[in-house]
Amino acid sequence: MKRAIFRKFVWIILLALLASSLVFCLIMGRKNRSSVEDQLFDTLYMMDYSLDYSGDLEKQLQEICSLEGNEHTRATVLSAEGRVLADNGVPDDEQEQLESHLGREEVQQALKEGKGIAERYSSTLHKRLLYAAILTENGYILRLAVPYDGLFTYLRALIPAAAAGIVLAMAASFFMAERQARSIAMPLNEIAAELRRMNKGEPEIFMKHYRYDELNVIIDAVNQMSAEIGGYVKKLELERIIRQEFFSNASHELKTPITSIKGYTELLESGLVTKPDVQKDFLGRIEAEADRMTNLINDILMISKLETKDVQVEMTKFQIYPLLEDVLSSVTPMANEYGVKVITECKPLTVKANVQQLQELISNLLVNGIKYNKPDGMVRLTITADQEDMILVVSDTGVGIPREAQKRVFERFYRVDKGRSKKMGGTGLGLSIVKHIVNYYGGTIRLESQVDVGTTFTVRLPVIAE
Ligand code: ADP
Repeated sequence: MKRAIFRKFVWIILLALLASSLVFCLIMGRKNRSSVEDQLFDTLYMMDYSLDYSGDLEKQLQEICSLEGNEHTRATVLSAEGRVLADNGVPDDEQEQLESHLGREEVQQALKEGKGIAERYSSTLHKRLLYAAILTENGYILRLAVPYDGLFTYLRALIPAAAAGIVLAMAASFFMAERQARSIAMPLNEIAAELRRMNKGEPEIFMKHYRYDELNVIIDAVNQMSAEIGGYVKKLELERIIRQEFFSNASHELKTPITSIKGYTELLESGLVTKPDVQKDFLGRIEAEADRMTNLINDILMISKLETKDVQVEMTKFQIYPLLEDVLSSVTPMANEYGVKVITECKPLTVKANVQQLQELISNLLVNGIKYNKPDGMVRLTITADQEDMILVVSDTGVGIPREAQKRVFERFYRVDKGRSKKMGGTGLGLSIVKHIVNYYGGTIRLESQVDVGTTFTVRLPVIAE
């Protein structure tokens, strides 16, 4: 990278140098040309003023041009017809052979406009010359010519300066490229190191900003991505832990009834239990344990269904009252068994939801109200509506939930009184299923409870269909 930057620097500096030299030469060349022209014309007017046209013109021209600084100047006096009358650059005897100067550009211009200027190669002097001519008042044409290189005068002077500039530019480029490469490569190396760290399984990295906006855009994107991945990984890890816990709890829960069933079956098989009423009791226990297992498996299946987000949940519009009647008829035997009265108040409402889910939700809350109640206790269920929310309140006069347990009752397999729950065929999953269903609809659930007084669950579900 350093090499590429260095090469670029050299090119840029060289181009800048060339461009500036060219512009300098052009400007200076033009300036110089106009000042030389001015000088030539000034000299011509002075000459015109000081020349004695009736005297020896040749001699006078020699004298003027022999002055210091004028050694290379060629002065010519022409007649209006273009005949050379005197010329200090050409010997007298050759002057006769000189062709008529009338056709020369500067002479033509002088005849027309009073003064003229032209630049060309002189075959007489074998040099490039700048010619200036004026038409004098008495009809002569006075002409001066000086060697003139134009732009080349400056180019010659500029070449060593440009060479020195190039050497300097190369040296400066070398150091600047070094620094530039380092200042660009360093952040890139650091970013690469951070990304490598991320690759090695460290999902959360944070990169600092650099002074390059373009890099910061990448850094922001990487930081954001890393934060998102970090969050995602944490979520996955948490889900993994929860799932693992769930499996180990579920297998433990299933193991207990299986062990009991196995024990009773072995006892019955051994022939040691001979009394028919004891045998019957054992068979009854086996059946109860089998029921527990069925409940447990059903609840586990329900939870896994609720957790599988891509499973299609069928939503229909239905009246809530008939559904409530179904639930009531299924819990009444239990309520009668425990001597608990169930009172319901239900507004005629139409909801749009999944029938099984609402059934499960109402049934779980009602069953808990009955299970964790006292003899002659009561469970009251009211269903009302508040705009698009269905409000379901289940309150009982039961044992209540201690304050410290209130936060945990929605956890899977959490039971306040394990013995009581198991005796009642509880799985510890009922409220967890309720919470899942509430979350599925984006609703809320509130719990108020006082030990020995009773418990109230208030559920709000946005399911009311107009
Ligand atoms: P379970 O199958 O044990 O009833 P739940 O998830 O339905 O499981 O409830 C968790 C625990 O919360 C129960 O074991 C019980 O201790 C307590 N609980 C739930 N509902 C009530 C209630 N209405 N009154 C008192 N305790 C309750």
